[in-house]
Amino acid sequence: MKWTVIGYWGAYPASGSATSCYLLEKDGFRLLIDCGSGALSRLQETIDLMSLDAVILSHYHHDHKADIGALQYAWLVQNTLNNTERILPIYGHGFDSDNFAALSHHFTEGIAYDPSKSLTLGPFDIQFHKTQHPVPCYGMKIADGNASIVYTADTAFSEDWIPFAKNADLLITDTNFYKGMDGRGPGHMTSEEAGILASKAGVGQLYLSHLPHFGDHKELAKQASEVYRGPIELARENLKWTKDR
Ligand SMILES: [Zn+2]
Repeated sequence: MKWTVIGYWGAYPASGSATSCYLLEKDGFRLLIDCGSGALSRLQETIDLMSLDAVILSHYHHDHKADIGALQYAWLVQNTLNNTERILPIYGHGFDSDNFAALSHHFTEGIAYDPSKSLTLGPFDIQFHKTQHPVPCYGMKIADGNASIVYTADTAFSEDWIPFAKNADLLITDTNFYKGMDGRGPGHMTSEEAGILASKAGVGQLYLSHLPHFGDHKELAKQASEVYRGPIELARENLKWTKDR
């Protein structure tokens, strides 16, 4: 499977960029994971919007779902122009009824996932983990029978992430704060906590994402590397991770 970073900023996108959005592909199946501000513009650098098979959202904060409305318009316009009636499934949790209801539109269908069960989407098996965040939010472990990827979405550090992320081939962490800061209020991790999680879970590789609009991001990687000895990448546009059979 191939993981591509489409957007990686926290809160709002820097000029020309996007907030949280990732593309996961395998055997021609394309799953979009979160769809933040600026994501639709950036995504078209990589794929045609109509080539998506499904979308899944961790939670309903704007920096993870701002472009869902624009994506719904894109599917409306393209279906109309092409005289087609293709429906795009958008998976989200059902613990926020207004935001969940907004996932359904002319050519998109909101589908509630049950975070206590695994979900199969195309070639992917997805398990959920409730995060430490001010609103209901779910991280995900995605496996394809060959490799596994853990995406923390938005969360403060919590020990229960360690068994969930155990031995994942790739871990993508919310890294909104620098070492020594306290992310528990807004529900985000520091660089050091990302490193601790990666180290204790024994993951193969760490991507630091959901990056802040202050400080020098290189410091985030340096601070995480003090506790995690494996390979670390700062998320950036078009950063790709691939593991195939
Ligand atoms: Zn959030």
